[in-house]
Amino acid sequence: MWTLVVNCGSSSLKFALLNPDSGEMPLAGLAERLGSDLAAVRVDREGERVSVPLPHGSYPEAFGVLLAELDALGLRREVRAVGHRVVHGGDRFSTPVLITPEVLEVIRACVPLAPLHNPANLAGIEAAQAAFPDLPQIAVFDTAFHQTMPPVAYRYAVPTDWYTQHGVRRYGFHGISHEYVAGEAARLLGRDPSGLNLVTAHLGNGCSVTAVRGGHSVDTSMGLTPLEGLVMGTRSGDVDPGLPDYLARQAGLSLTQITAALNRESGLLGLSGLTNDMRELEEAAGRGNEQARLAVEIFVYRLAKTVAGMATALDTLDGLVFTGGIGENSSGVRAATLARLGLLGFRLDEAANERAVRGQGGLITRPDSVPALVVNTNEELMIARETAEVVKVVGRGL
Ligand code: AMP
Repeated sequence: MWTLVVNCGSSSLKFALLNPDSGEMPLAGLAERLGSDLAAVRVDREGERVSVPLPHGSYPEAFGVLLAELDALGLRREVRAVGHRVVHGGDRFSTPVLITPEVLEVIRACVPLAPLHNPANLAGIEAAQAAFPDLPQIAVFDTAFHQTMPPVAYRYAVPTDWYTQHGVRRYGFHGISHEYVAGEAARLLGRDPSGLNLVTAHLGNGCSVTAVRGGHSVDTSMGLTPLEGLVMGTRSGDVDPGLPDYLARQAGLSLTQITAALNRESGLLGLSGLTNDMRELEEAAGRGNEQARLAVEIFVYRLAKTVAGMATALDTLDGLVFTGGIGENSSGVRAATLARLGLLGFRLDEAANERAVRGQGGLITRPDSVPALVVNTNEELMIARETAEVVKVVGRGL
C-alpha cells in the first residue's frame, strides 16, 4: 500500500509517496515560493530530478503536478491514504487522527498557538481533500509525542489563569523526529524501547532536545512556541523574559518587531552576522573568523547544558542521539558537545565520529562510554507509518 505524505509550509509544499513497511519512496517533491511568480515544484521521480514551473503559484496547482506525476508512474489508484504533518495540535491530540470536520475545527482553534504553521497546514489539507476526495486524510502532529510530558515539565511558573484560560504551557515540537530517532536508536542499541532512557537532539535549522523515557517524551526544550530552548539557525532560543520590555523602551521597537527579530535575525545568524548555515560557519571559523567561532561555541555550550539538564528527567542515561542536518553531518559540533559532557560519562570515538555522516549513522562513542549515536531522521517515513496505522484502526471500525 502507498501512502502520500504532505508537509505544507507558509510558502512551500513537500510531498513524498512511500511504502510505510519497506520505506520505498518512488516519488518525492518540493514546491517552493508558492504565492509568488517564481513558484516551481522540484520532483524526484525514481532517481530522476525535474523542475516544473507553477504559473499560478497555488497549492491546488502544486497538487495538480503531484497527480500528474502519480499518473505517470501508474500509482494514482494505488494510494491508500494521505498523511499530513500538522505542527500544532495543542493539548487535544496525543496521537495521529483521521481528519474530520471536528478535527479541522480544533486545528483551526490552534492557529493562535502556531500562526505561521497551522494556516499553511490547513491550506494543504484542503487542497489534498480536493485532489484526493476519496482517500482518508490523517493528521500527524509535531506536538503529539510531547503530550506525555508531566505537569512538572510542561507548566511555566506564571499566573495559573494564563494556563487555564489561554493554554500557556510548554507543548514542544519536532515530535515526529524525536519519536522516530528514539525508536531507531533502541533498535541500533539492541534494546527494548520500553526500558530505555534517551536524550534525543534534533539539530537542524530549528533545534530541540527531548528526554525520552521508555519511548515517551517526558521533557523537551521547545515550549509554548518553537522559540524556546537551544540556539538555532535564526532563532534565539532562551533569553531573559525581560528582554522585550527592555528593548521596547531602549530601542523603540514594537513587540512585533522584537518577536520577528528573535525568530528570524537571531541564533547563529545573529551571533555571527554572517549566516544561519552551520556548515558555512564552521568553514568561516576554520579561516579564523572570530564571530563565527564564537557562534558555534555558544551553540555547542547551550546544547550541552540543555542535554545535561534533560538528564534530570531520567532515572538513567542510556544514550544520546544526534539527528537533523547539523546532528547528522557536523562531526565538529558532536565532538565539542560530547567534550563538555564527560561528567555524564560520554567518551568520544573520534574515528567513528568522523565516519558518521549523512546516510551512515551509528555509534560514535568508545565501549567504556555512555552511548552517543547518530541517527538519520526520517519524518516522512514516520508520518507514513503513523498514517497507515490510523487507517488500519479506522478500517477495522467500519
Ligand atoms: P535541516 O533543517 O535538518 O535541513 O538542517 C539544516 C542545517 O544543517 C544547516 O545549519 C546546515 O548548515 C546544516 N548542515 C547540513 N550539512 C552540514 C554539514 N556537512 N556540516 C555542517 N552542517 C551541516
